[in-house]
Amino acid sequence: MTSSARPFVNRRLAEFGTTIFAEMSALAVRTGAINLGQGFPDTDGPEEVREAAVRALRDGRGNQYPPGPGVAELRTAIAGHQRRWYGLTYDPDTEVLVTAGATEAVAAALLALVEPGDEVIALEPYYDSYAACIAMAGGTRVPVTLRPHEGAFRLDLDELRDAVTDRTRLLLLNTPHNPTGTVLTREELTAVAELAVERDLLVVTDEVYEHLVFDDAEHVPLATLPGMRERTVSIGSAGKTYSFTGWKVGWVTAAPGLVAAVRSAKQFLTYVSAGPFQYAVAEALALPDSYFTAYRADLRAKRDLLSAGLQEAGFAVFRPAGTYFVTTDIRPLGVSDGFAFCRALPERAGVVAVPNAVFYDHPEAGAPFVRFAFCKRTTVLEEAVRRLKTLAG
Ligand SMILES: *Cc1c(COP(=O)(O)O)cnc(C)c1O
Repeated sequence: MTSSARPFVNRRLAEFGTTIFAEMSALAVRTGAINLGQGFPDTDGPEEVREAAVRALRDGRGNQYPPGPGVAELRTAIAGHQRRWYGLTYDPDTEVLVTAGATEAVAAALLALVEPGDEVIALEPYYDSYAACIAMAGGTRVPVTLRPHEGAFRLDLDELRDAVTDRTRLLLLNTPHNPTGTVLTREELTAVAELAVERDLLVVTDEVYEHLVFDDAEHVPLATLPGMRERTVSIGSAGKTYSFTGWKVGWVTAAPGLVAAVRSAKQFLTYVSAGPFQYAVAEALALPDSYFTAYRADLRAKRDLLSAGLQEAGFAVFRPAGTYFVTTDIRPLGVSDGFAFCRALPERAGVVAVPNAVFYDHPEAGAPFVRFAFCKRTTVLEEAVRRLKTLAG
């Protein structure tokens, strides 16, 4: 075999291939289907935030390398956000780090904190970059599976406890949880915190959907619980909170030693990014409560629209307590292979969705589940529902 006929990718990454989103989005383009696969909004965030970015560009703020930890205005605004919403105080100079989206924050945290051979526990199904980043860090991933229970995917605390070994270094949590829409409760998180303290674990929490919780669900940052501030790396992102996923502005808040560690990896990944956008996100973080209330209400209405439509179309629906995704079970439609279902759906009904199995180490555990995104215009969701109802007929 010539070297060009052999895959060049190394052993750590060979298993990951291309992300499902590339395949499904290409399918959407080819068939003209409505893309409810990838989770990006089809309308931009607030006009004043966009204008703030334009102003920064024109005024020459951030057009050259911004400071490594992020511009001071943004770090101060991030610290202000954590105080305003959660009563958490962080020093903008030593406890806040701006990253190229939450994706880089996760990567840098794992590369900085995991020794080769360490075990990293992650909730399965998990966001697709987690497995790859654990592998790049030389860690071993240990999935703990969220299982359907009374209409939602729940964490089994005994299973979590049993997954911890002497090699466990870190828990990688995500709440509100993509793709299931589960929001971990204060009771669940308190048990997680007790376990982390008892076994001396670090925790990385991906909280990019922190402002998208519905009804009586509450987002509880793990760092607010006893013993957790000093061992938790909290991650947020402007992409999800302000509907600017292309800007790639994310952040980390943590104790100084943890931020310094994450920064040591981050500086050699991107060094810095998104200069002018950092100034705009600083303004976004200071938007009044009304912005957050309206955003949440808009997405709640869309959740209800899509959930009801999917139910009428014959799916079993796990009504999400948070995020902008709804997970369904396709078995009531008489099929059980989510992959085959999603590959056929664009031709059958003109809609693209994602098989949850791609988010599992144990694909059989996720086989019948399919995820739809509802961060789309109401007219688009209405048309998608109209098309999906043909499945029921
Ligand atoms: C979208 C998403 C991210 C990535 O956020 P960026 O800021 O776009 O890098 C990370 N984690 C979860 C759970 C997500 O859904």
